[in-house]
Amino acid sequence: MSRYTGPVCRLCRREGMKLYLKGDKCFSDKCPVTRRSNAPGQHGQMRKKPTEYGMQLREKQKVKRFYGISESQMRKYFKMADKMKGITGENLLRLLELRLDNVVYRMGFASSRAEARQLVTHGHFLVNGAKVDIPSVLLKVGDKIEVKEKSRSSEKFKDLVEKHSGNTVKWVEVDIEQLRGSIVAEPTREDIDIPIEEHLIVELYSK
Ligand code: SF4
Repeated sequence: MSRYTGPVCRLCRREGMKLYLKGDKCFSDKCPVTRRSNAPGQHGQMRKKPTEYGMQLREKQKVKRFYGISESQMRKYFKMADKMKGITGENLLRLLELRLDNVVYRMGFASSRAEARQLVTHGHFLVNGAKVDIPSVLLKVGDKIEVKEKSRSSEKFKDLVEKHSGNTVKWVEVDIEQLRGSIVAEPTREDIDIPIEEHLIVELYSK
């Protein structure tokens, strides 16, 4: 199944939680989840007790929507996570966090993962000095990400330097003046701020 390209606020209302897909709007009182808590559509207010399968499916959908990935990508990450040492569900989230588009977002170079993905595909970033325009590239501790010299004078990045709040996750270090950052540690489960029960996804894919 390909990536969803319809109205994104609908996805948050379907999941009954903020998925932070719209940048600044997500933090304002214009966010529809803040204003209305029912699911979209004619039957949005009817709440049935979910089945075990239903709960597993919803957790998987939340994660896919949060990171903006397709079903086939999700299955690929699950297979990788399953082969790694440690807890499969946590490995899965860690892999998703280490995607280039997510790291760009976590470093504060984009206001949403969707914007980060677009900036990456437009070739604005270097990874360890080389241009990388594939959002799904997996990074590792020690990797350095920077905005390409030619892109630094764009309004987007000049504005970013002025407005960057300095708030980033603790597993990255960012020098906003220089528009560069690096990964200083692997993200732990506590660092990943998604209210998700990842063991339900593992159960679903292990059937
Ligand atoms: Fe989701 Fe953001 Fe839309 Fe709110 S504004 S519903 S968090 S995408």
